[in-house]
Amino acid sequence: MTTPIPPRPDVAELSGYHSPQIDVPVRLNTNESPLAPPVEFVDAWLARLREVDLNRYPDRAATELRDGIGAMYQRLGAQIFAANGANEVLQTILLTYGGHGRKALLFEPTYAPHAHYIRITGTTLVEAGRGSDFAIDFDAARMVIEREQPEIVFVCRPNNPTGTVEPLALIESLLAVVPGLLVVDEAYGEFAPDSAIDLVRNDRPLVVTRTYSKVWSLAAQRLGYCIAPEWAIAELEKVVLPYHLSAATQLAGVEALRFSDAMRARVGLLVSERERVFAELQATDGVTAYPSGANFILIRSEPPSPERGRALWQSLLARGVLVRDFSHWPHVEGCLRVTIGTADENDAFIVALRASL
Ligand SMILES: *Cc1c(COP(=O)(O)O)cnc(C)c1O
Repeated sequence: MTTPIPPRPDVAELSGYHSPQIDVPVRLNTNESPLAPPVEFVDAWLARLREVDLNRYPDRAATELRDGIGAMYQRLGAQIFAANGANEVLQTILLTYGGHGRKALLFEPTYAPHAHYIRITGTTLVEAGRGSDFAIDFDAARMVIEREQPEIVFVCRPNNPTGTVEPLALIESLLAVVPGLLVVDEAYGEFAPDSAIDLVRNDRPLVVTRTYSKVWSLAAQRLGYCIAPEWAIAELEKVVLPYHLSAATQLAGVEALRFSDAMRARVGLLVSERERVFAELQATDGVTAYPSGANFILIRSEPPSPERGRALWQSLLARGVLVRDFSHWPHVEGCLRVTIGTADENDAFIVALRASL
């Protein structure tokens, strides 16, 4: 079919984001929380929603939400920007600080949407690599940064899909050499031992993004945010669509904060399950497991090959366990990524894996 108007040539070349959803008993493929949010939270949220004047636009500045998130980190709401998922935060950062004639650098393998938003905003993508253990080598990174002078540098920490947690010292070293913004994606930050949020200051070009999707069990609601210098937040506010955050979303975010003890308990549970699954994987012949600071673990079939990885993915699926197939991705050939689920789901995965090998 010929369409009356083709998209921009750079958009025509892109392929969309695909994460196949297959209906199976054990779904460990998209890093969501395996647990529903507390019932008390849902009740509190709906009660407040009932009082909203639905005929009026919501608070454009999302003041209560931003103040609430800020308070969690002993900061003012002026250092918080919230949007419909961390993905919209990332896109807004690129619309504001990227674009034609500007460059953004990332370290592959990493979260694929970063490269996608770089491209759709017309920003020039600069790719650097990681070492064999998936860690970022500072000297190699500095060379690329000094040569390319990117306006934005992305570091995903913990990194998706590898689980790697870069030391905070590396973040500080990068801050000393970036010519523009350093954006640290902490979508899995709550599962890691420490956070780059502690490094955010008004006189530093550091932005840290987080999400309600993973630890707050709210992937369906779409809410993410960043902690950044006030001057950067003010620019992001100019670029994002007016009234982009619905009243329902703002209230969900505010009410969820009152259940942070429940959230922390869930994080603790998933972290201990992660360590248990990691130990089981290390005791399993035929796979390598990479240490992870997130709610997932990257594994590689041995000896590594894309075909062997794909066969393992299919064999797990045939046993009712869906994980994420990275077997044909550059830098992670033969790898699969398994989300940490409930203890029962994790057991089902280990049993299916051993039967498959
Ligand atoms: C899941 C994820 C996000 C964000 O998600 P939203 O659901 O849009 O908040 C951001 N970055 C990484 C690395 C992720 O894995």
